[in-house]
Amino acid sequence: GMPSAPAPVLAPRRPTRKIKVGKVFVGGDAPISVQSMCTTPTTDINATLQQIAELTASGCDIVRVACPSQDDADALPAIARKSQIPVIADIHFQPKYVFAAIDAGCAAVRVNPGNIRKFDDQVKQIAQAAKDAGVSIRIGVNAGSLDKRIMDKYGKATPEALVESAVWEASLFEEHGFHDFKISVKHNDPVIMVAAYEMLSERGDWPLHLGVTEAGPAFQGTIKSATAFGALLSKGIGDTIRVSLSAPPVEEVKVGNQILQSLNLKPRKLEIVSCPSCGRAQVDVYKLADEVTAGLEGLTVPLRVAVMGCVVNGPGEAREADLGVASGNGKGQIFVKGEVVRTVPESQIVETLIDEAMRIAEEMGEP
Ligand code: SF4
Repeated sequence: GMPSAPAPVLAPRRPTRKIKVGKVFVGGDAPISVQSMCTTPTTDINATLQQIAELTASGCDIVRVACPSQDDADALPAIARKSQIPVIADIHFQPKYVFAAIDAGCAAVRVNPGNIRKFDDQVKQIAQAAKDAGVSIRIGVNAGSLDKRIMDKYGKATPEALVESAVWEASLFEEHGFHDFKISVKHNDPVIMVAAYEMLSERGDWPLHLGVTEAGPAFQGTIKSATAFGALLSKGIGDTIRVSLSAPPVEEVKVGNQILQSLNLKPRKLEIVSCPSCGRAQVDVYKLADEVTAGLEGLTVPLRVAVMGCVVNGPGEAREADLGVASGNGKGQIFVKGEVVRTVPESQIVETLIDEAMRIAEEMGEP
């Protein structure tokens, strides 16, 4: 058939330098990647690899693990070697773990040179070791851990304070000729966070890692992240994203991917077009939509499935979708590519939709 036009996006991507996080590129024209962080103790290699496998299966591109002790550092080689996706070691303060992570084969290290400098100034050696190994760095500026000098100047973590801190941290690497890093300026308030990233994006071409920190439990955290990332991504700002939720990391990855898909920054996969229901509904739309969503979870082809409560908008929406149902009178009219293919009793709507979806998905090349 005709090649389809690329899906429209809200703004061209802001040009940034491209860096490498293992096999994943971040910045430039590289697709916006989705990250998460393991909640397992890094020392528990099997549990961590198991969680990484789950994250990989749910569409995570890059994973971070904490490295607060020597035992964690000792676990890094096995994790880096066996992970299917690039592993970033998250390190505060101790330069020795940065070197250990680089030697371990980690794709990148999250470390702030400002912290390193306070203890034992090995920023130059870190820059050299990272460059020699082809390892990149994330400078992670966080509202909760701003440098005292900057807190004294601004009084609190304003966008200006976050940006000044980030630009200063960046200069600590740049003065050694090291440029393979991305930056985050996280805050738990989406308004401050968005302002900080906008300001930072004006100051240089560093690839940016978006995050609302401590965004909260799943519901609040999803909305805070979606609104903040949406505001930035719709202006072309953001090269890699991490949704932070007080919930299992697989949920973070699902939310991150859904945000990118919603903005056409990643190809859409399964999309359920379901109506909110109203007084006209002749079927339990919530239940139907939930059951169809659950039954089709994990499909990788871009299938649009319409689940509509009545025949007012039902046939119209169902026609626009690959597959759909419009319910009424205890029955469901099943549409495929806009044609009614059959009418089934209400009790068979879910299984019929799932059967049809699987058949169409297979035709579309679902593995
Ligand atoms: Fe209401 Fe029907 Fe529209 Fe659903 S499709 S919201 S039931 S009018």
